[in-house]
Amino acid sequence: MTHTPLPDGLHRDTLAVRAAVDRSQYGENSEALYLTSGYVQPSAEAAARRFAGDEEGFTYGRNGNPTVASFEQRLAAMEGTEAAMGTSSGMSAILMMCMALLKAGDHVVCSLSMFGSTIKLIGSDLAKFGVESTFVPQTDVDAWRAAVRSNTKLLFAETPTNPLTEVCDIAALADIAHKAGALLAVDNCFATPALQRPVELGADIVMHSGTKFLDGQGRVMAGALCASQDMVTHKFLPILKSGGMTLAPFNAWVVLKGLETLDIRMRAQSAQTLALAEWLETHPQVERVYYPGLPSHPQHSLAMAQQRGLGGAVLSFAVKAGTSAQTRARAFHTLDAMRVVSLCTNLGDTKTLAAHPASTSHGRLTETQRQAAGIGQGLIRVAVGLEHLDDLKADLSRGLDTLV
Ligand SMILES: *Cc1c(COP(=O)(O)O)cnc(C)c1O
Repeated sequence: MTHTPLPDGLHRDTLAVRAAVDRSQYGENSEALYLTSGYVQPSAEAAARRFAGDEEGFTYGRNGNPTVASFEQRLAAMEGTEAAMGTSSGMSAILMMCMALLKAGDHVVCSLSMFGSTIKLIGSDLAKFGVESTFVPQTDVDAWRAAVRSNTKLLFAETPTNPLTEVCDIAALADIAHKAGALLAVDNCFATPALQRPVELGADIVMHSGTKFLDGQGRVMAGALCASQDMVTHKFLPILKSGGMTLAPFNAWVVLKGLETLDIRMRAQSAQTLALAEWLETHPQVERVYYPGLPSHPQHSLAMAQQRGLGGAVLSFAVKAGTSAQTRARAFHTLDAMRVVSLCTNLGDTKTLAAHPASTSHGRLTETQRQAAGIGQGLIRVAVGLEHLDDLKADLSRGLDTLV
């Protein structure tokens, strides 16, 4: 490998474009995609040392890959953590974190309005293995504090939440966790390190779905956990080796290249989302708009302080209940009238996507869980992309203006 190390003290914007493993002997400018499941060992002795963890070097594709390592280095630099571990999806990152840090009899505190699959994984699937959990209202700091018990090992928060964009106070939750001898993990999927860096506010672990804004163009599944080198090497790596939540090199390469434009995309898409949110707030068929960038949002000032003054690129709105049709039918009418915006449950794409959370992302929850999370039948989530604002307004108007 030709080794020209980057100078120390580079800014994050530079690291977002430059941080990676060394170039190969060919001097490629764009980071190489290493598609290999195995690695030829220099000697039997070296192989033994590498498998024992006594020497640096790749051993087998499940345990590590240079392209995946480039993604991990770059994301860690952007989040401000010592290290990161790539995973096959956002959910496998959460599974890895829980398997690494929890055992039967341990307790986790989460918010009631976390991502639907997170509630299912922690509240139901891990409960089968004896992991206890309490779900509290996202924005009620006292409720988080009151939920902590002697066996609490982890507080897990997501801010802003999906789909209602509720914002919680990361510094306050870090304080509660640390006073209880527990760790705070933050799902930073919606804000991304372009807007919010949880470790600077005291969080111990940052979890990502790379599938969303990190990729940025809706191409691949990916996930990651950012944390201290000690936690990555001694807690997450052993689970990766036995559990196999491995990030595919091709997916890592796509997301690695996505990180180069993350900051500029998040700024442009946040500005566009704010403009769309302001317009929706004035529409006669819209009951309420949920967006942290709006002064009407209950945690607007906290969000602006915590997210570098930007609201992010996801908003939700509730269509007004009608007289003749069910609220759900009115939401479906609005979605089915769209001809530009994609009816798609993903988010974080340059294409604008809209979805009906109550029947899709949150469809597996019970009605009680859904009500606790505040996901009504009239709610529509919009993940705003980079099309012209006027075309987006016209597309949503197609349905909203023809509601009966
Ligand atoms: C999508 C998402 C996840 C899960 O990520 P996958 O990559 O789909 O597994 C977790 N948290 C939030 C907030 C998400 O939006």
